[in-house]
Amino acid sequence: MTVTVSSLIEGQRVATGGGHLLPIADPATGEVTCELREADAGEVDRAVLSARAAFGNWSTMSTDRRNDILYAIDQRLRAHGDELAALEARTTGLPIAGVRPLIDRAGENFRRFAEVASTVAGETYLQNAQFLTYTTREPKGVAALIAPWNAPLALGSMRIATCIAFGNTCVLKPSEYTPESTLRMVEIMHEAGLPEGVVNVVNGRGSVTGEALTSHPDIDMIGFTGGTETGKRIMAAAGARLKPAIMELGGKSAAIVAPDADIERALDGTLLAIYASNGQQCLGGSRIIVHRSIADRFIAAFVERARKIRIGNPLDTATEMGPLAFAAHRDHVRGYLDVARSDGAEILCGGGIPAGFEQGWYMEPIVAMAPGNDARICQEEIFGPFATFLVYSELDEAIAIANQSDFGLVSYVWTRDLATAMTCSRKIRAGTIWINTPMMRELRAPFGGYRASGVGRDGAQHSADFFTEAKTTSIPLEDTAIRALGR
Ligand code: NDP
Repeated sequence: MTVTVSSLIEGQRVATGGGHLLPIADPATGEVTCELREADAGEVDRAVLSARAAFGNWSTMSTDRRNDILYAIDQRLRAHGDELAALEARTTGLPIAGVRPLIDRAGENFRRFAEVASTVAGETYLQNAQFLTYTTREPKGVAALIAPWNAPLALGSMRIATCIAFGNTCVLKPSEYTPESTLRMVEIMHEAGLPEGVVNVVNGRGSVTGEALTSHPDIDMIGFTGGTETGKRIMAAAGARLKPAIMELGGKSAAIVAPDADIERALDGTLLAIYASNGQQCLGGSRIIVHRSIADRFIAAFVERARKIRIGNPLDTATEMGPLAFAAHRDHVRGYLDVARSDGAEILCGGGIPAGFEQGWYMEPIVAMAPGNDARICQEEIFGPFATFLVYSELDEAIAIANQSDFGLVSYVWTRDLATAMTCSRKIRAGTIWINTPMMRELRAPFGGYRASGVGRDGAQHSADFFTEAKTTSIPLEDTAIRALGR
């Protein structure tokens, strides 16, 4: 059965009717299971008006009352965890075993940012004996939020939570490839007591619905998670209208494996960092830089494990890797096999269609040995299950390779030596450095990228700074002299 999805405005799914229709296929079978009715500029306008109308009450509501609603959303999303996880797995192809914890995490995003909102405080300046000067923080207004297809609920909930926890309202556009789960999540948020209009969803293509949203004259800010080229375009348009924008963009992250690393843990960690979420994650550790003394042993063990990764239906709890999200993306990832070969790389395993999985967009995880860090497979974001190995001799060389990239989102270091860890932490130019751990997201800490990986940071105070305006008020403590003009 084909379901039809559209927009959600003022707390209600927009009745289906006219509008451009986009077919959406199940990545595991290739069959069209969903039809998206695209929101045009008029529908986007209605969504922005709805968010603007809701801003008055939501922004002036006491933080405690707002937080009660955000805590209720956390509970309700967790209660619907199995339903949401199944929907997310089916529509994205992500294995359900990896997706299920992300639903609790989606709920947690609302609780954590409510906690941050409840501790946001202003500053007081008494250094000038004649004046009391203090600062307050006010919600900025209506946000245009744009999310990608690789983890709609984890990333969409993060964008929404950081925005509404500080009293803003929003219109979110998910990716045209994965509209269903976000719509259901926002519906559940309303069941938990979210007032109408605080969160609206518009669905459609980036070039149509996305552009209508980010260029709408009545939005106050943009929160974007997606590819670097799209981010540049949106940021340029935002700059022309002086709208603040936070950009979480692509990555080509390095994972350094030092000769003193705990090899088994490093193997587990490097495999997970590149192949989790079917390799479709911004923080994928796609360039694995191994010390020469352990390279042969490490790479052979990595290839052996990559070959054994359990490929299967995303709804099967034993599945470790599902299909890629859509046909064009699988073709894009496979296209890098030819790019790799023509650059002189050696494909060590993978890239074929796994036996028994000819339907849908499945592919075997790839491991390649790069001829050098200049190769396109080391410089371009492939965004799939494509691991690339490089070998180093001196730590400075490994760090130089890690830094020789347009991107700078995260970096992984596997070592038992404190000095090595600290040197990498200081010298690698990336927003997050993970030492001996694959992916640890601390919501209190800033997250974001250097260079082409982004502008701005999410996380606790950093989100509060972006999603609020700081206001300074000065009051004289006594009647101070005022220069009298024209008296
Ligand atoms: P895209 O940049 O292609 O799309 C992201 C979103 O932007 C989609 O909703 C897309 O809509 C929309 N969009 C596209 N063009 C426009 C436009 N002109 N105006 C407004 N919106 C537009 O990225 P992908 O969806 O392919 O996602 C993968 C990328 O996201 C990777 O580069 C990945 O690294 C990055 N990412 C970054 C993260 C981070 O935290 N740094 C986290 C996760 C992913 P549509 O899909 O309908 O075209």
